[in-house]
Amino acid sequence: MDLPKLAIAALGGTVSMQARNAGEGVIPTVSGETLLASVPELATLARVTVETLGLLPSASLDFDFLLSVLSWAKFQIRQGAVGVVITQGTDTLEETATFFDYLWDHDEPLVLTGAMRSAAQAGADGPANLLDACRVALAESSRQRGVHVVMNGQIHSANAVRKTDSLALQAFSSPVVGPAGMLMENTVNYLRLPGRRRILPLPQLTTQKIALLEASLCADTLLIENILELGYDGLVIAGFGAGHVGASWVEVIETIARKIPVIVATRTGSGSTAQSTYGFTGSEMDLISKGALMAGFLCPRKARILLWLLVGCQRQDELARFLVQN
Ligand code: ASP
Repeated sequence: MDLPKLAIAALGGTVSMQARNAGEGVIPTVSGETLLASVPELATLARVTVETLGLLPSASLDFDFLLSVLSWAKFQIRQGAVGVVITQGTDTLEETATFFDYLWDHDEPLVLTGAMRSAAQAGADGPANLLDACRVALAESSRQRGVHVVMNGQIHSANAVRKTDSLALQAFSSPVVGPAGMLMENTVNYLRLPGRRRILPLPQLTTQKIALLEASLCADTLLIENILELGYDGLVIAGFGAGHVGASWVEVIETIARKIPVIVATRTGSGSTAQSTYGFTGSEMDLISKGALMAGFLCPRKARILLWLLVGCQRQDELARFLVQN
């Protein structure tokens, strides 16, 4: 039987980590080929092309590298792959998934996965996650759904998924909406219809800088006051509650919003910002009246990715439209 073609890229992360010597911490060393050898069953499902594109902790991935990974993945689709799987560290998975989702203009699925336990740990989850991710990438039902994160038997949409636990096996969730699907008895099951996707062109600029600051009790204004002078092209604030800041930040946000886009998201980890509920100084209504935009359900880190991409293709004027539909 002619098996479908599947492409896998390894970027590093815990799934690729092991210790060089006993007693040392784990570091990324395991190649894509070795990861593939941990899932022999895959050979019965697909003809696999595997490449090690990087061996990095995911905190050290950067946008230029991700663009080169994207171009590799798009090439694989043009070469006939029915789907692409990328393994990487879990620390930034929620950001890379968003990054790829805004740029993935294929019907074929792009699936990201990783592991919470390294290969030598008892109960390592890397092989199971990789096999699940491949099943999702091969499934007909995954077409036209964009980018997903597959971890611990769950399928999460790129725009909803967050890492919500630092070390637990069940580290990923999609607050409010829940997982888009799950794997049961080796089959791929979606729990809802695909949502509407917004695709952006590839950024022509990659040197833009978007700052991300978190509101905190009695925070000083030293950093935020210097955002413009430091040359930032956009600012995202992880605000209190439904998108709020302390009164001392309001005037400076107004000044910044006259020059560059300012997005206020919620730092709570779940839920949406408000639009028209609170009227105090520093509330969402006050900040909107001063030129800031509310992130809706987009978490601060995903809002920063969106703004970076929009500035990169000089479409920051459309930001409000992208935030409304969350
Ligand atoms: N703890 C991380 C992981 O799960 C390390 C990383 O993100 O690279 O892969």
